[in-house]
Amino acid sequence: MRTVTHVLAEGASAGGGRQSDIFDPNNGGIQGKVDLGDADVLQTAVDAALAAQPAWAATNPQKRARVMFRFKELVEAHMDELAELLSREHGKVIADSKGDVQRGLEVIEFCCGIPHVLKGEYTQGAGPGIDVYSMRQPIGIGAGITPFNFPAMIPMWMFGPAIATGNAFILKPSERDPSVPVRLVELMLEAGLPEGILQCLHGDKEMVDAILDHPAIGGISFVGSSDIAHYVYQRGVAAGKRVQAMGGAKNHGIVLPDADMDQVVNDLSGAAFGSAGERCMALPVVVPVGEDTADRLREKMIPAIEALRVGVSTDEEAHYGPVVNPAHKERVEGWIQKGVDEGAELVVDGRGFSLQGHEDGCFIGPSLFDKVTTDMESYKEEIFGPVLQIVRAQNFEEALSLPSQHQYGNGVAIFTRNGHAAREFASRVNVGMVGINVPIPVPVAYHSFGGWKRSAFGDTNQHGMEGVKFWTKVKTITQRWPDGTADGGNKDAFVIPTMG
Ligand code: NAD
Repeated sequence: MRTVTHVLAEGASAGGGRQSDIFDPNNGGIQGKVDLGDADVLQTAVDAALAAQPAWAATNPQKRARVMFRFKELVEAHMDELAELLSREHGKVIADSKGDVQRGLEVIEFCCGIPHVLKGEYTQGAGPGIDVYSMRQPIGIGAGITPFNFPAMIPMWMFGPAIATGNAFILKPSERDPSVPVRLVELMLEAGLPEGILQCLHGDKEMVDAILDHPAIGGISFVGSSDIAHYVYQRGVAAGKRVQAMGGAKNHGIVLPDADMDQVVNDLSGAAFGSAGERCMALPVVVPVGEDTADRLREKMIPAIEALRVGVSTDEEAHYGPVVNPAHKERVEGWIQKGVDEGAELVVDGRGFSLQGHEDGCFIGPSLFDKVTTDMESYKEEIFGPVLQIVRAQNFEEALSLPSQHQYGNGVAIFTRNGHAAREFASRVNVGMVGINVPIPVPVAYHSFGGWKRSAFGDTNQHGMEGVKFWTKVKTITQRWPDGTADGGNKDAFVIPTMG
């Protein structure tokens, strides 16, 4: 059985220690082991990072960008291998795995322009003979702690901007699907990144706590579930670090009566069930406005769901594959039962789904609930599986209030032909990312990604200029070159300088 281990700088020692299982979602068995690191392994990585980072920060930004260019070419050349590896451990279908890699690569493309975005600000003559300029400098060593559901995209969201801006970076990916992050780190090194600038350490809470407490790590980017995001945020900030911590989600799709219902059903099928619902930007809640809209939606949704093909992750015809492991399958099915117990109407039941030849695989058929209400736990919490819940709203204001009052505020979508209503909705909704007739409004790489409320702790988004800001600190220089004619005795020197 293969073992996935840390990627450390040469000479650093991984030591022995605990391991955890990597499941095979297609058959429910165990396909490998991953080493779980501790504070000692982290220390070897930090030592290597400290040794390497000053020279990397001093490397001109164009040369740093060239490593990004080469990395992009390498990832493109290895796309099939990466997608196959990703599908094998995560369970998403190959085409979706390629999308996972591609969305991360788009952040790398943005990082190829890092010399341009790192240009500082300059004011000539801010006062008599005084110029002011500012520059962005790397924070030193950054760390990224990532979830299982985007094992390529999310590590690249983080290490791209961190490294391009001159930091060393320690990646702690999910222990559930660690192989793609390892390959990405290997490809960065192959692209010419110096030893010690990017290392990959595996682990669970023990490793995360060691990262949160390590005094040499200046910034931590986290993506995962909300309770852990909040914990990471609090502990990291208490240790004096900057922390951005993205959490869970429960995104709503609002359907106004004038929406193109065929388009809505098509979009919802992909957004609710794609990747088995294991996306933080999935649309697991649909809010039709008015009973007639709800009835029309439900009538069209049922056959669309029944037409979905669930298959192994290598099945090119499958719409989605298994969930990540047996424990997650059990958890999702538990939520379906909870919905039934709470009184929601289970219109399509995806439990008990079995795929011939893969009877022990982690498959869950698509499920549809109607008449879900806001007091139900199954509405309040994230299910993170192929389950779509219909919550009926009587009017626009009620529909607007549902995502606005929900504890999560990652993404939301509205489907309508009415530009005024869409504009009003986008402006008033209390959610971080909004789609207008776009079901999964993940911003492009040169904008930035981040939710509100319990979907994100901290104040800086991922990637784009927000990412650059997170991984750098501003230094501002106020300079004067006196002409040597000062005659002394200037009492103004004792007053706070103003530019009056
Ligand atoms: P998770 O919270 O279980 O794990 C995330 C990371 O935290 C992993 O690296 C894991 O090893 C570590 N971790 C787990 N338990 C820990 C603990 N007790 N203490 C410290 N660290 C711990 O999340 P997951 O199941 O891997 O990913 C799915 C979750 O991530 C969902 O809630 C999803 O909505 C969320 N997510 C959010 C975004 C976003 O941008 N908002 C994007 C993707 C996923």
